Amino acid sequence: MLYDNALDGIAVTFVSFVALQLWFNDYSNGLAFERMLLILSMAAICAYRIMDTLHWRRNSPKNENASNIGFTRFFVGNTLSCSVWCVYVFMFLPSMSRDEITASIIIISALTGGATTALSSHLSICAIYIFLMLFPYSSLLVFSSSQEFTYLLGTLGYIFLIVMISIAVKSHRFTKNAIKLKCKNMQLADESERSKLMIEQVNSDLELKVNERTKELVDLSNKDPLTQLFNRSGFLSQLKAKIQSASRDNQELAVLFIDIDGFKAINDGHGHEFGDLVLVQVANRIREFADSQNNACRWGGDEFVMVLEGCNAIEAKAMSASLISIISEPISLSKFDARVSATVGISMYPEHSDSSDLLINMADTAMFCQKQNARSKAAVFTQSMREMKLREYYLKAALSSAIVNQELALVYQPVVNQISQEVEFCEVLLRWTHQGEIVSPDEFIPIAENYGLIHSIGEWVLTTAFRETTSWVFDKDVAISVNVSVLQLEATGFVQKIRALLEKEQFPGEKLHIELTESVFTKNVEYLANQIRQLQAMKISVSLDDFGTGFSSLAQLQFLAADTVKIDKSFIDNIESGGHSIIKATQDIAKALNYRVVAEGVETTEQAELLNKIGVSSIQGYLYAKPMSQDMLESWYDRHKNTKDNDI
Ligand code: C2E
Ligand code: CA
Ligand code: CA
Repeated sequence: MLYDNALDGIAVTFVSFVALQLWFNDYSNGLAFERMLLILSMAAICAYRIMDTLHWRRNSPKNENASNIGFTRFFVGNTLSCSVWCVYVFMFLPSMSRDEITASIIIISALTGGATTALSSHLSICAIYIFLMLFPYSSLLVFSSSQEFTYLLGTLGYIFLIVMISIAVKSHRFTKNAIKLKCKNMQLADESERSKLMIEQVNSDLELKVNERTKELVDLSNKDPLTQLFNRSGFLSQLKAKIQSASRDNQELAVLFIDIDGFKAINDGHGHEFGDLVLVQVANRIREFADSQNNACRWGGDEFVMVLEGCNAIEAKAMSASLISIISEPISLSKFDARVSATVGISMYPEHSDSSDLLINMADTAMFCQKQNARSKAAVFTQSMREMKLREYYLKAALSSAIVNQELALVYQPVVNQISQEVEFCEVLLRWTHQGEIVSPDEFIPIAENYGLIHSIGEWVLTTAFRETTSWVFDKDVAISVNVSVLQLEATGFVQKIRALLEKEQFPGEKLHIELTESVFTKNVEYLANQIRQLQAMKISVSLDDFGTGFSSLAQLQFLAADTVKIDKSFIDNIESGGHSIIKATQDIAKALNYRVVAEGVETTEQAELLNKIGVSSIQGYLYAKPMSQDMLESWYDRHKNTKDNDI
């Protein structure tokens, strides 16, 4: 700071000194030469100080030592310029005019006044400067002259000296504080700059991490965690992009909907963990076949979707056949070897649609239709499939309001003991008439099951059957046998719901049979066996319907411990050919396991007689009665009683 203010101070000192010398130079007193010498001395000192200042400014000191040297040089320069002033007043005071004395004390005082600011950063230098400038001159004025005027000026000089020193002290304090503050500010600015850099660094690290995490999340949200294939949403965006590029390149594209055959049995038989291992192996085969990870996805459960670019329907079907044979190869796992297969549905872009959703939906429909015909084959979507699907949507929409619109009704089909001709029980069958069309339960029950409508419909059937049969044409002990979907039986709270309904309608449990289709054998058999036990605890009888058509084994009859088996109509139809031995075997086992056996779909007396020979006496079928409404049931029963009496 001393050097910062130095140039102004040197200039003022030099100019005022030279002006003073030249203005009051009296050539008559013979001191002109001395004055010139003084001017030269002052010029030399000022030149030295200017060079020193410039040197300092150019090479600002890097360490304390260099600072001290600079300080000493400044001190020397400053003190030298004071000493020239001292020499001047000592040499010239006796010859000075009153004006020069006044002018010089004013200039010296002014210079010291300036010094209180310019030199305030260093109190000693400032005080020494003020002292050297004012004290000698004031003393000379007071003591070396007897004039009152110089005495007065000298005294004023002393007073000024004291005032200036005290101002210098204050000014120094102020400057010191200002410097401290400045340093602090600089430090703060430094720190804030450092913090800013740190924050910027942390921010950029954070941004990198956020980007990484976002990518991971996007990957995760688009991937199926088990198979690492795309999930639905990940695949749909891939498929959309592929449709766009196929449209640009004027190319065809095939969407394959792959449903694994036989997976459920593995899952139910060996547990979910083993099922997962099988799925991973199947997914790996699909991934390899698909060439690229982007072309395949796990659609859900045991369903996969694949896209084949640039191939026509014939090629897609051929490729599907090879894919099916690859999936059908045995899967070696540490516990067991597993074997599954696949049924594939194919839809084509642009022939069938340009919407990714619709293409998948159509491929799904093609798979579904193919599965109903024959498993482990591929089928391309057709117009009739589209119509079937449209009808399904239409029926589903209509079915959801069928109860409210009172379109549902129940019919009853008696099961007759062919020896005693007694009505043993009546099967309750559901009828739906929608806008004049009688829709078969074989068509609408699977739709109700697929779209979750079976629960409300099933409850309606039970409630209505209870109400219609509380008092009816038959003896009050004749039971009703209600078909219940396995989906209903699986639903939580089903048993409680039945209990509540029985209580509400005051319907005795022993008057209710529940018919379960044989598909129960493909489900979680232990859970279902438990449900059956709970129903039996309420005195409800349980029948296994359509027996012999599905995956049942006679051994499972024991495990499920139901009450009745209903031998499927297809065996009765073939009773004269292969059906006979199956019915016989079922009858033997059932008898041993304490099951009642009912033959369904008996249409002829020959069939009834053959059944009788085997020992099956409970007969249901057109031979005795078609399913009938309550009104018709009454007249049928009257006729039946008459023929019975006549027979006797
Ligand atoms: P199902 O339980 O096997 O019912 C027997 C079916 O065979 C009935 O068809 C009945 O009309 C028919 N049938 C009975 N005797 C003969 C015969 O001698 N000859 C011929 N050709 N057919 C005979 P329906 O009523 O069309 O019912 C079809 C299926 O719909 C039923 O098969 C049952 O699985 C299902 N279903 C019917 N009502 C309900 C219901 O309320 N709930 C549930 N979950 N399913 C039902
Ligand atoms: Ca039935
Ligand atoms: Ca049946």
